[in-house]
Amino acid sequence: MRLDHWLAQATEQLAPHSESARLDAELLLLSRLGKPRSFLFTWPEHELPGPLVANLAGLLARRIAGEPVAHLTGQREFWSLPLKVNATTLIPRPDTEALVEAALALRLPEQADVVDLGTGTGAIALALKSEQPQWRVSGVDRIADAVALARSNSEALELPITVHEGSWFVPLGGQQFDLIVSNPPYIDPQDPHLSQGDVRFEPLSALTADEHGLADIRYLAAESRHYLKPGGVLMVEHGWDQGEAVRGIFTEAGFERVETGRDLGNRERYTLGFLSGKR
Ligand code: GLN
Repeated sequence: MRLDHWLAQATEQLAPHSESARLDAELLLLSRLGKPRSFLFTWPEHELPGPLVANLAGLLARRIAGEPVAHLTGQREFWSLPLKVNATTLIPRPDTEALVEAALALRLPEQADVVDLGTGTGAIALALKSEQPQWRVSGVDRIADAVALARSNSEALELPITVHEGSWFVPLGGQQFDLIVSNPPYIDPQDPHLSQGDVRFEPLSALTADEHGLADIRYLAAESRHYLKPGGVLMVEHGWDQGEAVRGIFTEAGFERVETGRDLGNRERYTLGFLSGKR
């Protein structure tokens, strides 16, 4: 079958099930062709071999059943880094790039000590390391398979970060940081969105938290002071409607200059605060 015909037909098949049918079809095809995206436009008449078409039919069926494209291709781009992804962690979201941008805009010491709590694929930690190679960046995850994934991404991208296995601060011992970042679970366990779209295929442990999604953020805000240097920064991602609550949590935990930033969709997406003291 011709490449362009396959794309047209796959897009049509996916359209009732996905808001990004054409892109989904392209990504699935490219993952099996092993070619850059430009190939699709340069070689529309390329003949796809029968076994490839059969293999793609299986992928289309899984996509139609709701599986995220990133799980079918095993990859998702974040901050222009091709990250390996699997069902053990959250799939990196473009929204989280806003937090990376804000972290890079902080005036941190040249060799800042930075930790990403609940690092998953390693997305935030690796994005920061890619921009600030002299920072000492580590990541922590409680799930052994996620730790393995983050380490494998670190090696594949040649971005050296240290990844620890354990719950939040536990593996950090007495270390202190200039910046603690986290994209913790923050969805209310009752949220109806949990039964729609990609999140159905992501681990609940990476998505939901008690107390209307705020339990882990409360814990991070309360504990971070023991792991921050004077003047250090805590920055967490949260839901678009949690900004006010998170600012309150940060302020109550003693953080200063607490502020919330927005994502590309102009929704409140992350909050940061400074520990008192001179750096
Ligand atoms: N932003 C993600 C979503 O709403 C959730 C990420 C998270 O819980 N950390 O699908």
